[in-house]
Amino acid sequence: MLTVNEIFYSIQGESTEVGRPCVFVRLTACDLRCSWCDTPYAFVEGRKMSVDEVVAAVERHDCRLVEITGGEPLLQEDVYELMERLGTGGRRVMLETGGHRSIARVPAHVLKIVDIKCPGSGEVDKNDWANLDRLAPTDEVKFVIKDRADYQFAREIVHRYGLVGRTAAVLMSPVHGVLGPRTLAEWILADRLPARLQVQLHKYIWPPNTRGV
Ligand code: SF4
Repeated sequence: MLTVNEIFYSIQGESTEVGRPCVFVRLTACDLRCSWCDTPYAFVEGRKMSVDEVVAAVERHDCRLVEITGGEPLLQEDVYELMERLGTGGRRVMLETGGHRSIARVPAHVLKIVDIKCPGSGEVDKNDWANLDRLAPTDEVKFVIKDRADYQFAREIVHRYGLVGRTAAVLMSPVHGVLGPRTLAEWILADRLPARLQVQLHKYIWPPNTRGV
């Protein structure tokens, strides 16, 4: 069984799949408390569903792209069966994870979006750095940037671990309403950093606090 916060069909707002129709499966619970978290409702709200029920709910949307997110999806053991099941039939499966839980058991067909928490999150000490050795060349890493100190931290990590060469994308996302995307863009350009700026597209399409989009 899984505890599921919500399943919805929307536009993918992040990653290299940005802009594409996508079904989202948001699993309940997280063991972090990032200062800028925009899904605190996923900490506790949810209902029990079997893997069969989740797969059926995804299939009703007739969409080839699906993302499993949270909360922290890797806290629930049955997520591994869910990832296997969703990967059949030509569907592309994405997993968004906080980066503090091992990604070693995630099936190879899954595109992993792995957060690296910056100091401004308040959770930088929780990063599982061994995950960087578990990344596939098709995976992506994501830094959520709150301020200049976060950016400098992210830049240092990108260089120290050679993240550009070993991943499909290094994503940098400003905290919505806190750091302007233009400011982050200018920092990236000034440093000629080969990162990919992203802006959580869904928050520009719909009001930023809208749920289920
Ligand atoms: S890891 Fe994600 S869900 Fe958990 S507190 Fe941080 S932003 Fe929120």
